[in-house]
Amino acid sequence: MTKRGQLISTYFGENVFSLDKILSNISPEVGEKLKKLINHGQILDRETSDAVAKAMKEWAVSKGCTHYTHWFQPMTGFTAEKHDSFLEYGDDGNIIESFSGKQLIQGEPDASSFPSGGIRATFEARGYTIWDPTSPAFVLEYPHGNTLCIPSIFISYTGEALDKKAPLLRSIQVLNNAGVEILKLFKNPGTKVYSTLGIEQEYFLIDRELYNRRPDLFQTGRTLFGNAPSKHQQLEDQYFGNIPERAFAFMTEIEEEAYKLGIPLKTRHNEVAPNQFEAAPIFEDVNVAVDHNQVLMDLMDRVATRQKLACLLHEKPFAGVNGSGKHCNWSISTDAGENLLNPGKTPHQNLQFLVFLVSTIKAVYDYSSELRASIASCANDNRLGANEAPPAIISVFVGELLHSVLNDLAEGKTTKTTEQAWLSVGIDKIPSIPKDNTDRNRTSPFAFTGNKFEFRAVGSSASPSGPITVLNTAVSAILVETKNKISKEISKGKDFNTATVKVLREMIKESRKILFEGDNYSSAWEKEAEKRGLPNLKTTPDALKIYSSKKTIELFSKFGIFSPRELESRHHIYIENYIKQVEIEARVSRDMAVTYYLPVAINYLKKLSDTVEGFADATNSKSGVKSLIDLLKVIANKISGLQKSVADLDKLLSNTEKVSSLEKKSFEYLKVKKGVSALRSVIDELEQICPDASWPVPKYREMLLTL
Ligand code: ADP
Ligand code: MG
Repeated sequence: MTKRGQLISTYFGENVFSLDKILSNISPEVGEKLKKLINHGQILDRETSDAVAKAMKEWAVSKGCTHYTHWFQPMTGFTAEKHDSFLEYGDDGNIIESFSGKQLIQGEPDASSFPSGGIRATFEARGYTIWDPTSPAFVLEYPHGNTLCIPSIFISYTGEALDKKAPLLRSIQVLNNAGVEILKLFKNPGTKVYSTLGIEQEYFLIDRELYNRRPDLFQTGRTLFGNAPSKHQQLEDQYFGNIPERAFAFMTEIEEEAYKLGIPLKTRHNEVAPNQFEAAPIFEDVNVAVDHNQVLMDLMDRVATRQKLACLLHEKPFAGVNGSGKHCNWSISTDAGENLLNPGKTPHQNLQFLVFLVSTIKAVYDYSSELRASIASCANDNRLGANEAPPAIISVFVGELLHSVLNDLAEGKTTKTTEQAWLSVGIDKIPSIPKDNTDRNRTSPFAFTGNKFEFRAVGSSASPSGPITVLNTAVSAILVETKNKISKEISKGKDFNTATVKVLREMIKESRKILFEGDNYSSAWEKEAEKRGLPNLKTTPDALKIYSSKKTIELFSKFGIFSPRELESRHHIYIENYIKQVEIEARVSRDMAVTYYLPVAINYLKKLSDTVEGFADATNSKSGVKSLIDLLKVIANKISGLQKSVADLDKLLSNTEKVSSLEKKSFEYLKVKKGVSALRSVIDELEQICPDASWPVPKYREMLLTL
């Protein structure tokens, strides 16, 4: 039922079983226990879980739910759900609706068909989904029935994480522990530290019928062939332009669904490329924001199908026009509502801001390869560094002013750029930072935007869990380091301000190489970054190697985010995933080349040669058809080029079978990927000379310029 014309606030969250709703349906004593569980991770007793389960079931049934599911995020990057009805036999043998605390807390789906990277042997198929009370349950409405979704983590029989969510929750805890220690140093009234996340989601919309006629799109998510249309984004008339009617219909339906689910969508607009759009919510607690992004991606897919559209979440669906990202705006807050990455008004607040800012910068510097690996995928490789997205080199943008403030801090100098830039505190000096730091750098992979960082290198189809888990962990590791160093200086007799400034100075000196204000897309930066010794891990196989490095294993195991075995399993899954993706692309591309494009070229060749022959017969001379013969030769050439590229691709694919080590195999697939591109070039050339009417698939022109 459409909500058109209704105020959003009147129905926002109506399909969410929020804490408020739970509390008004259970006794105050049980409510207190539940709040403790949510805020401090205490164990849930039987009485509490039964009471919550009962309230949840009654609410869900009132919303038309017949089934419930533990909704989780396995390593596929998608969400998973196994539905069970509320049906039970009552004591008197009659069928009733029932839902117990035990059922709420834990489900037991067969884990054997989810990627586990070797953690779960097939003979031990058990996996458990465990209720995550920190993200509220919600109702997914399908045209044919509603289902209660209970956000859950997914672990193996031996307690290892089989999903993306458990490690994220661990990193949230670790960041809280590390952050609270810093708050104590500053006598900050906050008692809890958590990260906030606002996710800008980019996507393309195309007509479903055109999509269905592109086997590359519906099998791999991207076009493996095709030339950019003559008019695409050169006129820069798309960004923030009028939203096409069909896209608007899509957006409003998504928004309505999202609001019912408590997803605070705020912004909608056209993106740079034709038929490319963006949706962004108001930021939320990171755990909920990640869940909401997963729900949003799922909604986009379903609503698009309903509206005879296809929503492309792939990082690079079309060559030659911009790809799509998922900008993760990330900050750290306290339970007292203070954004710790917001420059403060007083020197004391500024010092605290600098601790969090400099720690984040150092975290990105120390763990840039881990962050790079967290965004690595076959799909994102097509986008990163393609002159419209950040390169594979991780750097941090802080804006010119802040950069000079940090440099001055490193040098122990007084910033002269603004009158009030430095305020004296005790015996040392710390800068006062203007609040309106509105500099923007769209080319930076990791940019400070005034009161938050924007991790722009994340790919549009990726689950934000991975990158945020790594970011939270890296920042926590440095916050612990910072705290220890400050305490050490204090124990040597320095006062707090002096000790802190000294530590920050050393930290920024060590890590300022990561700061870069210029154009990240330029080749000059690549050279400069190399000079600075910053890693440039261009491809996924290069990036994934970091997972077997000692430093990485230590970072994650020290903080209990991933045990060495869990990390190894992830490494395995990511490499395998890369290999499978390239393999699928290669097979689809070969198939289309041979069964779609080759026959078109051969037909054209035949037509041309018939024409040449007919003309020569009729005029008794060959001289008048020289240009036709030239064209004929070009086509014949392209046909042999196509066949050669197919043979090369076959060879590259068979070479991969000779390699047994998974890691080495992934580098063989890097070559396969090049083979796929080589084949593409021949066919893209053919597209430009073969008759339009005989082209076997919709062209970019149709897909991108009509909606
Ligand atoms: P742009 O980067 O395009 O200028 P905005 O300034 O509108 O975009 O912000 C983009 C996203 O950043 C939004 O989702 C917004 O809610 C989010 N955001 C704003 N403040 C914070 C914060 N403190 N923590 C996390 N995300 C934030
Ligand atoms: Mg942005």
